[in-house]
Amino acid sequence: MLPKNDHFRIARERMVESQIAARGIRDKRVLEAMKKVPRHLFVDEALWDQAYSDFPLPIGSGQTISQPYIVARMTEELGLKGDEKVLEIGTGSGYQMAILAELARQVFSVERIPSLLQRARQVLDSLGYHNVMIKLDDGTWGWKEHAPYDAILVTAGSPTIPTPLLDQLKDPGVMVVPVGDEYSQTLTKIIKKDGKVETKYLEGVRFVKLIGDHGWRA
Ligand code: SAH
Repeated sequence: MLPKNDHFRIARERMVESQIAARGIRDKRVLEAMKKVPRHLFVDEALWDQAYSDFPLPIGSGQTISQPYIVARMTEELGLKGDEKVLEIGTGSGYQMAILAELARQVFSVERIPSLLQRARQVLDSLGYHNVMIKLDDGTWGWKEHAPYDAILVTAGSPTIPTPLLDQLKDPGVMVVPVGDEYSQTLTKIIKKDGKVETKYLEGVRFVKLIGDHGWRA
């Protein structure tokens, strides 16, 4: 039998090849990051054997860690080169944050549920990510102290684009947000450039609700 670490490394490589590269993700840095970050450590040990399969998993408090392909797709759309300051809304397990931390200079994330924030912080710490910072708050207000951001990623579904996030996006900058009703959303990409804002609709997704002043009411 293979040692556990090798077992998961092989499962992770297969995940990247069969679920992510095969579905059209081309950015080599994104593929490398997804091969590197141990997704199983972001879920309960009872779920480790499912950690490299193509579906979301529960992380407690009624929340989920997104399907690996969706993490890859959203990350690729940000077009990170390595020197960016990124804001994520909805830390959840911290997995998406680890992927962003591999690809950008500095990553900030906001989470509204204390137990999730604590666990994410522990896992990210134990993996040695030092370019990440998390705070407990309503992320629909963004994180003003560190704005503006080169890229913003919202990992919960919102009825509209939260205006504070649009204000905290740099020019040029890019933001990806799932926008829709509580059952289904469209992955929406906002590109800010030369004082203008362009909107692109990417694909249908299903996220848990973004709950806050500029999202859904609790
Ligand atoms: N990116 C996460 C998955 C997010 S699930 C991961 O990689 O695991 C969505 C998360 O958004 C949940 O943890 C939920 O508590 C959080 N959330 C919902 N509304 C929020 C808000 N207004 N501010 C901050 N976090 C919020």
